[in-house]
Amino acid sequence: MAGFFNFTAMRKLSLSTLLIFLALVTTAQYSFDAKKLSQELKELSSGVMDGRKTGTEGNRKARTYIIDHLKQLGIERFVPGYEQPFSVSQAGSLNQGTGGVNILGVIPGKKKETIVISAHYDHLGNRDGKVYYGADDNASGSAALLTIAEYFKKNPPVHRIIIAFFDAEEMGLRGSAYFVNSMDLEKESIVLNINMDMVARGDKNELYACGTFYYPQLKATVEGIQKLEGITLLFGHDNPETKRDDWTTQSDQGSFHAKKIPFLYFGVEDHPDYHRATDTFDKINLDFYAKSVETILQAAKALDMSGD
Ligand SMILES: [Zn+2]
Repeated sequence: MAGFFNFTAMRKLSLSTLLIFLALVTTAQYSFDAKKLSQELKELSSGVMDGRKTGTEGNRKARTYIIDHLKQLGIERFVPGYEQPFSVSQAGSLNQGTGGVNILGVIPGKKKETIVISAHYDHLGNRDGKVYYGADDNASGSAALLTIAEYFKKNPPVHRIIIAFFDAEEMGLRGSAYFVNSMDLEKESIVLNINMDMVARGDKNELYACGTFYYPQLKATVEGIQKLEGITLLFGHDNPETKRDDWTTQSDQGSFHAKKIPFLYFGVEDHPDYHRATDTFDKINLDFYAKSVETILQAAKALDMSGD
C-alpha cells in the first residue's frame, strides 16, 4: 500500500510540476492580463470616443467606460459617483465654462499616507471631422491605470491609493490643478504622485521615469526593481537647465510638483504622431506597452512598500 501510495503521489507531483512549469511558460512575465490591457487601450482610443475632448459626448463615453470598469473591479469611489466636476474656461474660447470631470477611486491601505496614481483620459477630440484618437496620448495611460487599479485591489497596498483619471489635461493640466486645490493635501496625507502619460509607443524601447532630479530619494527604490528584457528604463527629462527637454510641467505631475508633492512621471519620447490624428491603436507596439505597464506596476509596488 505504501509503495502504491508513493507511486501515485509521485505521479501526481510530477504532473502538477509539469502543469506549473507550463503555466509559467505560457503566462510569461506579466502580473496582469496583457490581452485585457490592450483591448482596453483599443476601446478607449476607438472612433466611438471621438477623441475624448473635455466637455464632449466622446469624453462622456470614455468616462462612462472607465467608471463601469472601476465598479466591476470593486474599486470604491473617492467622491460621489466617482465624479469630481469642475469648470474650465479656455482663453479665447466661446464655450466658456465647459465642464471637466475627474474620475476618482480609492483603494484603502494599511496606513493613512496616500499615493495618487494618475493618468489623463481626455484628448484633443474631433477637428474638422478628423478624429484625434490619442491612442498613446493618453488612452495608454488610462488603460494602464485600470490595470494597476485591478492589481492593487487584488493585492492590497500598504499606502492608501487614490486612482485618478484627470480631465482637461490637454487644456493645461486643469483637472489635476483642480484636484490638488480641492482638498487639504496635508490632512489627506498625499505623499506621492505617480503619473502616466504616453506609455505605449517606445519606438526605441525606452521608458522614462522623470522626477528624481527633484526627488532623488525615489531613485534607488525604482532602480531596484527587476529589469524586463526588451525595455530600458531611463531617468531624466527633469532638469530645468535642459529647458525644452524638461517634462516636469508637461503633464499632470506638474500640478503636484507645484504643491511640493514628490512625483514620478512615466512616459516615452515624443513621436511623429504626437498630437496628430495619426496617434492610432495600430501604431502601438503591444509588446512594449505590456512591458512598460509591468515596469510601472513594479515601480509602484516598490514605492508603496518603501517609506515614501
Ligand atoms: Zn497627454
